Amino acid sequence: MVKQTMDPPTAASDVAAAADPARVPVDAVRSISILGATGSIGASTLDLVGRDPDAFEIVALTAQTNAEQLAALAVKHRARFAAIGDESCYAALKAALSGSGIRIGAGASALEEAATEPADCTMAAIIGAAGLRPTFAAVRQGRRLALANKECLVSAGAVFMAEVVRRGAELLPVDSEHSAAFQALAGATPETIERIVLTASGGPFRSWTKAQLADVKPEQALKHPNWSMGAKITIDSATMMNKGLELIEAYHLFPVEKHQLGAVVHPQSIVHCLVSYRDGSVLAQLSCPDMRTPIALALAWPTRMAAPVERLDLAKIGTLTFEAVDEDRFPALRIAREALDRGDAAPAVMNAANEIGVAAFLQRRIGFLDIAKLVSCVIEEADRAGLMRPLASLEDVLAVDAEARRLAESEFGLAKLASFRL
Ligand code: NAD
Ligand code: MG
Repeated sequence: MVKQTMDPPTAASDVAAAADPARVPVDAVRSISILGATGSIGASTLDLVGRDPDAFEIVALTAQTNAEQLAALAVKHRARFAAIGDESCYAALKAALSGSGIRIGAGASALEEAATEPADCTMAAIIGAAGLRPTFAAVRQGRRLALANKECLVSAGAVFMAEVVRRGAELLPVDSEHSAAFQALAGATPETIERIVLTASGGPFRSWTKAQLADVKPEQALKHPNWSMGAKITIDSATMMNKGLELIEAYHLFPVEKHQLGAVVHPQSIVHCLVSYRDGSVLAQLSCPDMRTPIALALAWPTRMAAPVERLDLAKIGTLTFEAVDEDRFPALRIAREALDRGDAAPAVMNAANEIGVAAFLQRRIGFLDIAKLVSCVIEEADRAGLMRPLASLEDVLAVDAEARRLAESEFGLAKLASFRL
């Protein structure tokens, strides 16, 4: 079902493959590694598999800095290998796991090692472009990859999908909208699909004016109305950059052209995606907003496993509403669409600038509306600097990502915004 190249569009057989259980190489996921085990997606995944310890075996777990939490999870779930990204946390991890028999590692190479340990499925749940190297390492194993790390597809898009195809990896989306699209697309051939529309909750500031948005504080933006998630994606949801990242993600995952992708605000977060077909049918997937549902699908596909989530009671909910996205108040979505249209390095530059902007906002260095401003400034400067070139390899992607981060921190980025505010 995956898109192999940006041009020409995906062959019909790719979509058909997704609907044909006989072509799914993994009979049943028994062993799992989790990259980003201490995060929100990591916790939801471990919650699911921890309910049936006889059915699942945990191979490797990773975290960046929280050695104590990583060690506790590794012991609880009897992992074979625990890797901490930040080398300065090695001693703490070693102390916490001494005598446990669990192998440990530290640094970037240990994260890649965790991704290459033989496992039926790797859950890629590191946040941001920091997940690129370990997630690529997992793809190279040619097994099932449950992909939560959307920034990987945004930054590396075509390079990543080419690697998936080359290695014969089985890519299952974890993002709820993409999991929904994957299900609503089962059995479809590309020429029958008219449109894929991702829903967006609209975040906590859906009805706020621009003047109100200018004063948003991190603690307000960190309160998402429907989903409980890590800090970065929660801020992305508040700016609606998350939906922009997801449009780019959907473009690489599904056999549609850019103009066939859209977004609609749906504050209840019950309908996750709408796929329209040429006969006028619209297929949607509905569920209560709980990431354990799409995670369960990614682990169990082509079958389904039990998930202890709230059951959907539409009579109780009563009303589902939909409204257009206001790109004037939420310019991040427009910026992302333009980056998608532009292609080449534009999405990677945008993603890197956004990561710097979100971190700066959380550190109270810039305001809420400055995040999108920063992204625009960096894209403009990257253009002038000749950075918007085609990307042919992971190394290319990493080089552009690093350069865009440097620009975001420079006099063209955060320093420029600071001078605007004086
Ligand atoms: P999180 O911040 O809760 O957890 C991130 C994990 O990555 C942690 O285990 C952390 O230790 C690790 N990590 C952080 N920085 C790292 C670095 N530099 N190198 C290596 N590891 C690092 O994030 P999350 O909310 O679980 O999101 C994970 C991914 O899933 C993101 O790409 C996000 O967009 C995507 N996603 C999340 C949700 C959700 O509900 N949380 C929904 C859809 C998609
Ligand atoms: Mg999503």
